[in-house]
Amino acid sequence: MNDLITHNRKLNKTKVALVILMAILLILIVITIIKIVNAYKIGRSVNDYNLWINKINEENEIKEEKDKQKYAPLSEEELTNINNIYKHQDNKRVFLTFDDGPSTSVTPYILDLLKQENIKATFFVLGTKVEANPNLVKREFEEGHYIANHGYSHRYDDIYASTQNVLDEYNKTNELIKKAIGNNNYNSLVFRFPGGSSGGKYHDVKQQAKELLKQNGIASLDWNALTNDAAGANTKEKIMENFYNTIQNKTSIVILMHDAQDKILTYECLPEIISYLRNNGYEFKNLYDVIGR
Ligand SMILES: [Zn+2]
Repeated sequence: MNDLITHNRKLNKTKVALVILMAILLILIVITIIKIVNAYKIGRSVNDYNLWINKINEENEIKEEKDKQKYAPLSEEELTNINNIYKHQDNKRVFLTFDDGPSTSVTPYILDLLKQENIKATFFVLGTKVEANPNLVKREFEEGHYIANHGYSHRYDDIYASTQNVLDEYNKTNELIKKAIGNNNYNSLVFRFPGGSSGGKYHDVKQQAKELLKQNGIASLDWNALTNDAAGANTKEKIMENFYNTIQNKTSIVILMHDAQDKILTYECLPEIISYLRNNGYEFKNLYDVIGR
């Protein structure tokens, strides 16, 4: 009888051991399957990640290439197009241009108005002001306005001390614009000489500098209409009088205005200027439309 009990116990123990063994085996199989599935998933996500990185790199290369073309020095033909800007006779068009900014007290208001009127203008920014207000340059750029170059110092004795100084001021300002808008390929391509590109004490240096800029694929642009907002017009009436007098009989108008710190009157005159031009059939353009890249 005792022998039978002992025998049964041994049998039970063997059964229990067998069940435990099978359970362990099952757990090991499950763990192995999980590991294989995870390894597959990781492999796939590494693959996806690599594809994603490659795609981003490719897109960046395409953007870089496009930017290089967009901001390459101007060709002979493009330089001629800028030089002939006033000769255009096909349709009435106007370029609103603002010099000496950006400024915190005037530029944001002008930008708000231009946005409301859906007009793209051209800003000839000054290096010292770009340095002081980079966010406003960024805003101008992002809102589709053309960022052109007005040199760094605006001090005639400095900038016109030599032809090389003109190019140096262009380059210095261009570097500041690049930094402000966060695009290392940016090239402003069009320069406006402080005080205009001819006449006066520095006439000869200006003519030589114009040639030097041209050799570097940089155009220069003056204006054929103005409000005299930086030269004595200190009431809205005077500003508007200069505007009406200088735009007369012109098909392609480049208007010189200023968005420097003290030029709030320019902003206050803009609605009338815009509505007059619009009512008289002028289309608003900026330099992107002339360069055509
Ligand atoms: Zn100026």
